[in-house]
Amino acid sequence: MFLTRRQFMKASAGTIAVLAIADKALALTALQPVIEVGNPLGEYPDRSWERVYHDQYRYDSSFTYICTPNDTHGCRVRAFVRNGVVMRVEQNYDHQTYEDLYGNRGTFAWNPRMCLKGYTFHRRVYGPYRLKGPMLRKGWKAWVDDGCPELSPEVKAKYRFTSRGEDDMLRVSWDTIGTYLAKAQIKIAERYSGEAGARRLREQGYPPEMIETMKGGGTRTFKYRPGMALLGLIGKIGFGRMSNSNLAMLDAYIRKVGPDKAVGGRTWSSYTWHGDQPPDHPYWNGTQTSDIDHPDMRFSKLHVSWGKNFVEHKMPEAHWFIECMERGGRIVVIVPEYSPPATKADYWIPVRPASDAALFLGVIKILIDENLYDADFCKQFTDSPILLRTDTLQYLDPRDVIKDYKLFDLTHGYSKYVQAIKPEYRERLGDFMVWDTGKNQAVPMHREMVGVNMVKAGIDPALEGTYRVKLLDGKDVDVMPVFQMYKIHVQDFDLDTTYQITQSPKDLIVRWARDCGTVKPMAIHSGEGVNHWFHRTTNGRGAAMITILTGNQGKFGTGSHNWSGNYKTGIPQGTPWSGGGIGAWGAEDAFNLNLDAKAHGKEIVTKYYAYGEEPAYWNHGDRALIVNTPKYGRKVFTGKTHMPSPTKVEWSMNVNLLNNAKYHYDMVKNVDSNVEMIVVQDL
Ligand code: SF4
Repeated sequence: MFLTRRQFMKASAGTIAVLAIADKALALTALQPVIEVGNPLGEYPDRSWERVYHDQYRYDSSFTYICTPNDTHGCRVRAFVRNGVVMRVEQNYDHQTYEDLYGNRGTFAWNPRMCLKGYTFHRRVYGPYRLKGPMLRKGWKAWVDDGCPELSPEVKAKYRFTSRGEDDMLRVSWDTIGTYLAKAQIKIAERYSGEAGARRLREQGYPPEMIETMKGGGTRTFKYRPGMALLGLIGKIGFGRMSNSNLAMLDAYIRKVGPDKAVGGRTWSSYTWHGDQPPDHPYWNGTQTSDIDHPDMRFSKLHVSWGKNFVEHKMPEAHWFIECMERGGRIVVIVPEYSPPATKADYWIPVRPASDAALFLGVIKILIDENLYDADFCKQFTDSPILLRTDTLQYLDPRDVIKDYKLFDLTHGYSKYVQAIKPEYRERLGDFMVWDTGKNQAVPMHREMVGVNMVKAGIDPALEGTYRVKLLDGKDVDVMPVFQMYKIHVQDFDLDTTYQITQSPKDLIVRWARDCGTVKPMAIHSGEGVNHWFHRTTNGRGAAMITILTGNQGKFGTGSHNWSGNYKTGIPQGTPWSGGGIGAWGAEDAFNLNLDAKAHGKEIVTKYYAYGEEPAYWNHGDRALIVNTPKYGRKVFTGKTHMPSPTKVEWSMNVNLLNNAKYHYDMVKNVDSNVEMIVVQDL
């Protein structure tokens, strides 16, 4: 609308007049005395609006469950139902009532738990994007209808194996999908079984090692991946049972072999390749992963997050980190960027990406130079005093030094009764030697001679120095304790060099080293993100070494931990006295089933027909690590125990394989186009 200047002035004058009157009226209103109301909520004349809220929270019934969508926090939650629909989900505030078989109870401190994913889970269940029935790719259905012809380039194009994502998906019944999956699996197993199957795979270019590992069973080309299997003991471990039992029976049916020759599928790992496994942990502590429950953080007085985001990523556990702060813990964060946990830190050590190991070695040098390590702990609880031969870099074996040496008898203690170590492993583990400063000679020791047992044995082992030992074959070798080797190794990491490599401020490197040596208990937490790095093994060993040297292991508030999960889900291990553990379900012998519902775990016969495999090989062009080197010719770097087989069936559950994989284009274009059946089973 166009206004002339005159019209505008006229309109403005009117507006100003109205405002002036209104202003006066407001001023008069403000002069009125305030109505006296003792309790506004009691006196307020109209409370009907409250019904809106009461109605929102009204429910007919409720029930509890353990939330485990795809994490291991296992929060116990309560769902409220109205008219048969879950309206909302809340935490149940009952962690203090949890009790294990031995009567150990949780505490109130575990409340509250949950996160936004858990609070909104029911919305996803009811949401429009949830598949409520099976779908079948149109081209693949036609391929099965046509008898599953071999995948020549023309067949791949015709049935859209090379353009799966552009094909239509057909809604089918459960019966239909079951029939198609069964038919295709029989065809594929037949195709790749026996000598004819091996020939086909050779023609497709698979190396002989990958074909030999199949032992003639076409079912070995079937890759089943139960993702985060412990989150669903019946369903997901049951999927492993399928790979073990059903496929072994399929192999027996196709090759007409008995249980002695039948082979199951390959069960893809759900821990290592996708990054949950900290590869350094087996090196320095001998177990898969060193983790404790998060409440332990409350005991730490020096809490170090290395590439770990407790603020955002540990959701229901983050409050333990806060409680560490409330109890006066000092917070240190080591990450390249000023991250959310860095904002909570007493000091943040920025580190150049991929230079973490240098930071840790620089800190170890300061700990040793300034005598900030815990010598007694190192002697009694670590391998620091164990002697290494400088000529072979192997442990000095008492069998090479002492005539007719007999290994210590370990059949009455921890190794046998707690760790269930079998006699053949005992042989392989052998014994060790340390340099006894009292006797001034090398003396044998064994794996149970730790802590008070070493003190009782009257041995005061040297941590430093080089010693000469005569072997039974007459050879003199120089030996030194592990600690001495570290001492030499870290000489390269003086403060200037460490700074040059890491770009971490020198004053913070020194400050952290001195804190590690003096503030106890201290713990270093890493996250699974850093597990994906190359050289994580070296980095993680460096971090752990700081906790080891300073005696920060095995006590409350200490340790070097990796938080891929917090294992609130139980881990049913197999033992000689309890039976096969989770194997009793996942690996029950298909040909020897126990149908007695009351059978003891020990009565379940387990047999592993399936064989584990790392999906890393699928993600490596579906090939083992075999390299034609210019100098040494063809080298097979993948050992026999890890040798993958070709992938023809890929069936995943509760996991996004392509999202986990690197080289997306290569995987879709070159690898999966040769896979004859891909099944994704998910919510
Ligand atoms: S942290 Fe969240 S998603 Fe995980 S179990 Fe608890 S509520 Fe569920």
